[in-house]
Amino acid sequence: MRFHRSRKARFICLVVSGVILGIVGYRLPFLNWRRTVSPLEADLLVVRFDGKGDGRFLAPRNGGRRHRGIDLAAAVGGPVYAIRSGRVREVGTDLGLGKFVSLKHDGTLSSLYAHLDTLLVTDGQRVRQGQKIGTVGKTGNARHPVIQPHLHLEVMQRDQRINPAQLGLEIVDASSSKTQTSAPSTSN
Ligand SMILES: [Zn+2]
Repeated sequence: MRFHRSRKARFICLVVSGVILGIVGYRLPFLNWRRTVSPLEADLLVVRFDGKGDGRFLAPRNGGRRHRGIDLAAAVGGPVYAIRSGRVREVGTDLGLGKFVSLKHDGTLSSLYAHLDTLLVTDGQRVRQGQKIGTVGKTGNARHPVIQPHLHLEVMQRDQRINPAQLGLEIVDASSSKTQTSAPSTSN
């Protein structure tokens, strides 16, 4: 009887540790090892600045609107990475945003990646921090030939748009070294 009990206890122990290991093993890839990782290949991100306007957060746009994200200069076809782990909220195509991916992260944070060329994730899919979710494109408002190819990145906290630079991304503003045009851009 004593022997049977100990065998049973060992079996239960094995099952419990198996379940725990399974949960840890599943969760591990979705942990955020850093607060945010770069959404592009480069760690140092450069804000787009061209004849159609500047890509800074809250930069003026047509109709008194303000730029809701930040435009990061990047070559078409380059990879776009998830800045944090999370779940895909929406993958779609929008007139202004072009092809986009929207991610819901832990807590109240979400992020949006726009003007993409290819979309590599689907609705509801779980993504790791740094996972390639698409490639840089020139879709939506970014189609204009004068507009430098870029990734439009938006970050929302409690449905309020915040400057992605606040999340610790290394972003340089190249606009100070170039002449600024006075006409507000139509680009997103
Ligand atoms: Zn933009």
